[in-house]
Amino acid sequence: MAVAVGVEVQRGRMVIRNVGLMLSGKLEAPILRADCVVAEGGRIVAVGREQDCDTGRATVVIDAQGCALTPGLIDSHVHPVFGDWTPRQSQLGWIESTLNGGVTTMISAGEVHLPGRPRDIVGLKALAITAQRAYANFRPAGVKVLGGAPVIEQGMVESDFAELAAAGVSLLGEVGLGSVKAGYEAQEMVAWARKYGIQSTIHTGGPSVPGSGYIDADTVLQADADIIGHINGGHTALPLNQIRCLCEGCGRGIEIVHNGNELAGLSALRFARELGQMERVILGTDGPAGSGVQPLGILRMIALLSSLGDVPAEEMFCAATGNTARLRKLDCGMIEVGRAADFVLMDRAQHSAGADLLDSVQKGDLPGIGMVVVDGIVRCGRSRNTPPAERVPVVVG
Ligand SMILES: [Zn+2]
Repeated sequence: MAVAVGVEVQRGRMVIRNVGLMLSGKLEAPILRADCVVAEGGRIVAVGREQDCDTGRATVVIDAQGCALTPGLIDSHVHPVFGDWTPRQSQLGWIESTLNGGVTTMISAGEVHLPGRPRDIVGLKALAITAQRAYANFRPAGVKVLGGAPVIEQGMVESDFAELAAAGVSLLGEVGLGSVKAGYEAQEMVAWARKYGIQSTIHTGGPSVPGSGYIDADTVLQADADIIGHINGGHTALPLNQIRCLCEGCGRGIEIVHNGNELAGLSALRFARELGQMERVILGTDGPAGSGVQPLGILRMIALLSSLGDVPAEEMFCAATGNTARLRKLDCGMIEVGRAADFVLMDRAQHSAGADLLDSVQKGDLPGIGMVVVDGIVRCGRSRNTPPAERVPVVVG
């Protein structure tokens, strides 16, 4: 897709050297033998040992000081409205705050908190198209918000989905938040959406707020959306045997969110690992919500699931990056040539009991972020939200 009006483009060439640990975002090889990455035009053009990379003609040189580098984190489940404002808890700047938690891409699961949100079909389509356009043209603090996710309602017909797709809408909001709650109704609309290249996600579990519905495992399986949205509930989770059925009964994305049931989240992770299908596990916050806004929500999920779920930290980073990029067909989330130059530089927090970054996360501590880069542009230095890290990258040229 062409870069939209109002979106800043990287000029020149960025070299990041002296990376102590290069996390790839790819489950099959989560740690790369590399200490250097080069970006140009917002894309990764080289990654490897510094002596093997063309580091000439650099306009920005960053000495990582031995910090770890991960792909920018992806929040698979957010509820934005417009700009960097959320009416849910009357907050401004929540997306900028989340950038300070290492998130460079957010995926809307519906702009459901808009006061007076239209529920008639022409109105919901207009809102989705407006939100898609607005976030394509404006990136709060540089964060890529994939917005414009309509909440489907009874009465929609196939041509509505064709029209939405033609207008640039590529996501459905959580199925089940509108009047379409029965499995057979959802199945038909999800299939129409898929036919026109629109991805779908479904609300799983008990109602999130008064007015939303209860969606059980049978309905989720029948609807067959691309992503089992908050498999651990938002907040109220299904019984664990139903969560196991969802993991075993289909091959769709297993989305675990911050604003869900933590026991259910850990259980879903265990079921996916027992099936040998860790590549299906992706992470979200489901914020803003009744639980508030969680600027460090994705980092907290990585630390929670790695420590209590006994999963190597480098694999949990994949669940917040490459797994999501693959399931969602995004051009970011992995450190490889041609991908978006979205990076987070981080290190073990000061005074963590862990021996290094990965060990500290496996012991449940959050890392300290020292820099975030989106599309080859530095968007923040030392995070104002994470605990301070031992080491911080330095711009040296
Ligand atoms: Zn939900």
